[in-house]
Amino acid sequence: MTATPELDAQVIVAGAGPTGLMAAGELRLGGADVIVLDRLAEPVSESRGLGFTARATEVLDQRGLLAEFDNPEISAKGHFGGIELDYSVLPDGHFGVRNVEQTETEAVLTRWAVGLGARLLRSHEILAVTQEDDFVSVEVSGPDGRHVLRCSYLVGADGGRSTVRQAVSIDFPGQDATCEMFLADVAGAAIRSRFLGERVPGGMVMAARLGDDLDRIIVCERGTRPGERSTPPTFDEVAGAWQRLTGEDISHGEARWISSFTDASRLAAQYRVGRVLLAGDAAHIHLPAGGQGLSVGVQDAVNLGWKLAAVVTGRSGPELLDTYHEERHPVGARVLTNTRAQGLLYLGGTEVEPLRAVFGELMRNDDVARHLAGMVTGFDVRYEPAGGGHPLLGLRMPPCELLTADGPTTTTRLLHTGRGVLLDLAGDPAVRRTAEGWARQVDVATATSADERLAGTSAVLLRPDGHVAWAAPDGGELTAALHTWFGPGPAARA
Ligand SMILES: Cc1cc2nc3c(=O)[nH]c(=O)nc-3n(C[C@H](O)[C@H](O)[C@H](O)COP(=O)(O)OP(=O)(O)OC[C@H]3O[C@@H](n4cnc5c(N)ncnc54)[C@H](O)[C@@H]3O)c2cc1C
Repeated sequence: MTATPELDAQVIVAGAGPTGLMAAGELRLGGADVIVLDRLAEPVSESRGLGFTARATEVLDQRGLLAEFDNPEISAKGHFGGIELDYSVLPDGHFGVRNVEQTETEAVLTRWAVGLGARLLRSHEILAVTQEDDFVSVEVSGPDGRHVLRCSYLVGADGGRSTVRQAVSIDFPGQDATCEMFLADVAGAAIRSRFLGERVPGGMVMAARLGDDLDRIIVCERGTRPGERSTPPTFDEVAGAWQRLTGEDISHGEARWISSFTDASRLAAQYRVGRVLLAGDAAHIHLPAGGQGLSVGVQDAVNLGWKLAAVVTGRSGPELLDTYHEERHPVGARVLTNTRAQGLLYLGGTEVEPLRAVFGELMRNDDVARHLAGMVTGFDVRYEPAGGGHPLLGLRMPPCELLTADGPTTTTRLLHTGRGVLLDLAGDPAVRRTAEGWARQVDVATATSADERLAGTSAVLLRPDGHVAWAAPDGGELTAALHTWFGPGPAARA
């Protein structure tokens, strides 16, 4: 047993990508002391993702962050595996916020997390991780050489090739890549073809305008054997594939950025080993179909942040952290399933045409469309409730308008502080009294709502991530739910 040395932070987050930054902000909201380490001296200037899904949009809105984006465009029209799907088939549903480059998302999240007090150390690469009984040692190479930082918990949000995941020997089983796709931002090519992700003989192509003279293209040529690349593809390779698939010569253009990605899909066997937790691409990689990668990572972070903050500040016991794996691992598995299904439909050859035809027919059925939209938006995620039969239990709280004694508000706005919320919709003093013992963690609001989704509901307890922990009537015992999610109540503390 090693004596606990002085800690550098209660939590170290590995990686200042969208997942790590979101986790850092959430941890700060919960009162934890946080250091974020990233090996890069500067954020990358190229943008992998160009938006986020409907649930990620809500999650950012829950923290008041949606208003920070310059020009988000919300589009209901999307696809599943390249087959058109109107996501407004679900209440509040849309295919996602588009026109937001990942660089902007990371800039917004950096300002927010650092503004809340997270310490971001760039040019700090994690080399090794050792878990002791009471702390974690993180060996880092920084501008002043190698040194060791210590924390109570380490969050590995260091991307698909996660050093943290490998250092603590978490398995990453899954499917190897079957095809490779090129991505390039091309200037000066005046690309004529406009494809919104389209199957063409020989593969799939996409072209989107990023600026006056700049196009983002994606080319997937069937039959290419993905190998391990140590350097990005050349522009000749990209332009050659583009010409073979579209007939258009873009070789006179200039590539500002070239990258490649594959359809490999892998899921960490465990999201937590002792004091180390994984989130985002470190925990799951898959085809970026429907722009789900960044979005699922951000939602991992929002599930984990408040729980880990409660544990390191002593409000909850470490068993609360087990619910992170229990809740988010199945979500990751389902994302892998839906993106693999989409990959087969989207990228397969002529042999998938009959399947696409049948799928297209099925998708004209509203129940099927709602099912698929629920899957891709993340609206159907339900964290299994401990007991009770209220229909909202475990689900995300939909954004509802509310009227309080202080004026109108919304369920979304009540979550801005990152605390729990007990919504008393029937003016019941007993409900409010029950929550008094958790006043440090849970805000109480008395309100009415004309939203039909709250009809017949007299009270709701929301977790900081916006999921319903308890609802009345028929949702089980409020005291038990408060105890489970917000730590021991006054009786146990006494
Ligand atoms: C072509 C393409 C398009 C995409 N489009 C979308 C989209 O529209 N919407 C969407 O939601 N997702 C999209 N994605 C997926 C999205 O880009 C990723 O899922 C997302 O970046 C994952 O975020 P992350 O924070 O988990 O990991 P990353 O963004 O990979 O961040 C990891 C960070 O960790 C740092 N790091 C790594 N190793 C170390 C180390 N040893 N020490 C210190 N720091 C380290 C890295 O420098 C990096 O900053 C797309 C992906 C691709 C390839």
